[in-house]
Amino acid sequence: MQTETTLDTYEDLLQAIVANDGGREISDPATGEVVGRAPEHTTADLDAAVDAARAAQPAWAALGHEERSAFLNRAADAVERSAEALARLLSREQGKPLNGPNARFEVGACAAWLRATASFELRPEVLVDDGESRAELHYRPLGVVGAIGPWNWPMMISVWQLAPALRMGNAVVVKPSEYTPLSVLALAAVINQELPAGVLSVVSGGRGVGERLAAHPGIDKVMFTGSTATGKAIIRSSADTVKRLTLELGGNDAGIVLPDADPAAIAEGLFWGAFINTGQTCAALKRLYVHEDIYDAVCDALVGFAGQMPMGVGLEEQNVLGPLQNKAQFDIVADLVQAAKDSGARVLLGGEPEAGQPGYFYPTTLVADIDNDNPLVAREQFGPALPIIKYSSVEEAITMANGLDVGLGASVWSSDPAKAREVAARIEAGTVWINKHGAVDPRVPFGGAKASGYGLEFGVEGLKGLGAPQVISY
Ligand code: NAD
Repeated sequence: MQTETTLDTYEDLLQAIVANDGGREISDPATGEVVGRAPEHTTADLDAAVDAARAAQPAWAALGHEERSAFLNRAADAVERSAEALARLLSREQGKPLNGPNARFEVGACAAWLRATASFELRPEVLVDDGESRAELHYRPLGVVGAIGPWNWPMMISVWQLAPALRMGNAVVVKPSEYTPLSVLALAAVINQELPAGVLSVVSGGRGVGERLAAHPGIDKVMFTGSTATGKAIIRSSADTVKRLTLELGGNDAGIVLPDADPAAIAEGLFWGAFINTGQTCAALKRLYVHEDIYDAVCDALVGFAGQMPMGVGLEEQNVLGPLQNKAQFDIVADLVQAAKDSGARVLLGGEPEAGQPGYFYPTTLVADIDNDNPLVAREQFGPALPIIKYSSVEEAITMANGLDVGLGASVWSSDPAKAREVAARIEAGTVWINKHGAVDPRVPFGGAKASGYGLEFGVEGLKGLGAPQVISY
């Protein structure tokens, strides 16, 4: 354990994590410039990390909750000391701007989640105490937790996985997305200034390393955030070792605007609900259902707000929207919007990427008069293109919202909270927000319904997911 930070400048941070030779080139999705070379770890490196984690875990578990929480708080301090360096690296590798709900916000959330996770109280539950017998429910550490993450919020989602795992007395091996390994390596390097050796490590490899991790006999649980297809592959690879799984998978969140909503008042919330991180967010608003009485007014208000939000290179302070993180995602968004246009849907804003510029920029796009079965509605676009579907009865809107096999988040927009709650209760999603969308809170459990996954993150429920329940009965 080191005591003095040396990782508070961008240059030092990068120096500490990049591969000296070999590795894989990582380039800035906004400019194409090289950010650095990421080490390309192998399954042998993964095995070594798991061995080190198994060796370190018993002493970590023996510290107890209070001491481990103190470590998490010191880790949060370290993240805050390196916050600007971390945000710059995140911005360059992921593409998200420094400002708006983006890179600086994400690094701030890492510190906030570490502190919140340190603060929760988890006491044994007394289940029966009737004078004849007593039964208590305890949570023991699981052992070693594998954390596999995506490229959209690489630092924050890593913290969502590692903080509760560490708090519960587990060691953690993280496998970041191959698109954003530097961000996660940097975050772990900063946090590891405070943690005992071996308790937290990062294996920066590709899909093969992820597959091995999901099947590894030395891993007791996998925390996975990513696509539903990969989630299913992880269920299969983890079956032989009967691993515990928390799966936060893809979504296609619906928002329903009721006829009594005020278009001008909700436009900003709708916009950020859909376009946070340039639409590359699991629980972003991806299909907007608007009642016919206020359809045109909501479309106009959204166009008015969206048209003023600057998109560009992340390190330029004025920008609040950035590029798509990678070419594959850019192509998905471009193809879906093209299909919508070909079907006769009406593009209100954007819809045409500028040719010949560097970077994977797709303009902020709003598409109206689109059918519910159009691919831009039915598939997860994961980018800055929002379809706006007109409905005439609330029943019809609820049926359309529930019509897909995913259910991560959803939202209802109305001037009448009681009416909104009634509709919310009928939507098949893990979270339904009212007059906001995607607002996560470290104290409030978060998880998906249907094929959006299972298991809960955050809060005391999240801690329980990283422990082995044990009943002690006498
Ligand atoms: P992805 O599934 O392609 O990759 C995620 C991770 O899984 C990467 O680290 C990848 O290397 C690894 N991986 C790939 N194949 C694997 C395998 N067979 N076994 C083990 N690991 C494997 O997802 P992505 O494209 O990085 O992320 C975008 C998706 O993630 C979207 O669908 C989005 O909705 C979802 N997401 C969900 C949440 C949530 O909380 N529910 C949050 C963020 C993103």
